[in-house]
Amino acid sequence: MPDNTLTHYLCIGCPLGCRLEVESDDGDNVVEVRGWTCKKGDAYARQEHIDPRRMVTTTVRVNGGRWARVPVKTSDAVPKGQVEAICRALRSVTLAAPVRMGDVIVRDVFGTGADIVATRDMPAAG
Ligand code: SF4
Repeated sequence: MPDNTLTHYLCIGCPLGCRLEVESDDGDNVVEVRGWTCKKGDAYARQEHIDPRRMVTTTVRVNGGRWARVPVKTSDAVPKGQVEAICRALRSVTLAAPVRMGDVIVRDVFGTGADIVATRDMPAAG
C-alpha cells in the first residue's frame, strides 16, 4: 500500500457526478475503485485510468457546398492521445459537395477502428 497511488476522476455517466478514486499499484494496475454509486462509475474509472477515450467532433472543408465546412465526428470513441493528431490530419481534408449525412470521410482513422463520418448533409451551392 505505501507505494500505491490515488487518482481522482469525475464520473460523467449521469448528472449525479460521483467523485471517483482509483487506487493503483506501482505498475499502474488498478487495485480498487471507490466513490461510485453504481457499477457504471466503476467501469468508467477503470477505462479512464487504463485507456481514456474520447469522441472527436470537428468540421472538414468542402468545395462547392452551400457552406464552406461540414460537421463530422468519429463513429466511436478513440484513444485520447490521438485526438489532437486526428484533428490536425482532418485540416488537410477537402471534400467535394454534395456530402450526405453518414458519409464515411476517413475509414479506420489512424488504425483506431473508428471512421470519420459526416453528421449532416451539405448540398452543392446554387
Ligand atoms: S457512478 Fe453511477 S450514479 Fe454516480 S455519476 Fe456515475 S453513473 Fe451516475
